[in-house]
Amino acid sequence: MSEDIPFDKSLELIPDTAEEVVPGVRRVMANNPGPFTFKGTISYIVGKGNVAIVDPGPDDPAHIGALLDAVRNETVTAIFVTHTHRDHSPAVPAIKRETGATVYAEGPHRAARPLHIGEHNPLDASADRDFVPDVALKDGQVIEGDGWAIQGVTTPGHTANHMAYALKDKNILFAGDHVMAWATSIVAPPDGAMSDYMASLNKLAKRSETIYLPGHGPAIKDAPRFVNYYILHRKAREASILHRLGKGETDIPSIVRAIYIGIDPRLTGAAGLSVLAHLEDLVARGVVETDGQPAIDGTFRLAR
Ligand SMILES: [Zn+2]
Repeated sequence: MSEDIPFDKSLELIPDTAEEVVPGVRRVMANNPGPFTFKGTISYIVGKGNVAIVDPGPDDPAHIGALLDAVRNETVTAIFVTHTHRDHSPAVPAIKRETGATVYAEGPHRAARPLHIGEHNPLDASADRDFVPDVALKDGQVIEGDGWAIQGVTTPGHTANHMAYALKDKNILFAGDHVMAWATSIVAPPDGAMSDYMASLNKLAKRSETIYLPGHGPAIKDAPRFVNYYILHRKAREASILHRLGKGETDIPSIVRAIYIGIDPRLTGAAGLSVLAHLEDLVARGVVETDGQPAIDGTFRLAR
């Protein structure tokens, strides 16, 4: 139930074709539409002449070719990566090889917590474990280019290494998959963690940028209001889970059936992991009990 968020699904982009989204920033959408990627992953080109690329995207020759075409006769000095999902970072080696740009990110892929005994990572296939940045950025660190300055903003939750990027003095934040206009972000253990995710949302709510350019979907023009909707949505989702537990439901599949009405069947697995993310957080806060570690096939009850 996401009707509480005013989603914007208006996006008419021709894949692998550069266009200016706001003055001084171009975007190129990869042709990888899907239930998790909307119409495709969006790569951004910052500046003119000496430029930076944010999120080169998937390892897709057509997309890599389109990005390189868009910056022909320009110099790419920096590549910034928001996180290491396979639709965001695998094009980095090819773009780096052709441009010699320095690669910046928070760090390599890692899970938010260790795997529990007997647990397998359902997200293994989605991670780009080959990615290593040239420079690991700290929260708040600024990289200066020719006519632009980009600041790393750690935003763990969707992945542990997720970093948003503020374009200094331009009122713009590259939000990656942390906040998007078309759908909620997926927070799935063990790579993601709900407590981190909520802390990152609250951190963004205190920032001044009002335009977000996300990894998927259209630009967000009233970002503080939108972040607030995201926070309220997560609190409502948590309340729904507690309500179902109060009604005597104990397992994640039953809770998903009860609260994700009309969900795209391809997203049921992700919805289960999202509920698990909430339950992990609720168990850690002592609000919910389970036997052993919170698990996707575990049983849960309200703490007394
Ligand atoms: Zn992602």
